[in-house]
Amino acid sequence: MPLYRYVCPKCGEEQILLMRMNDKAPQCPKCGDEMEKQIPRVQLKNAGSSCSGSSCSSCSSCTSRS
Ligand SMILES: [Zn+2]
Repeated sequence: MPLYRYVCPKCGEEQILLMRMNDKAPQCPKCGDEMEKQIPRVQLKNAGSSCSGSSCSSCSSCTSRS
């Protein structure tokens, strides 16, 4: 299950919470305001977009081709 980082827009309280799909936004334990989900950092992709087109061993489009 995914972990999400929630930040309170009012007081800046941060919480790492395990959330299911239909869970509502949690409330700040400090001020009771609704916390906002932080979008997770973009993950590095190995899926070929960084490949210049010649074969390499690090991306899936090249390794599957050869
Ligand atoms: Zn708060």
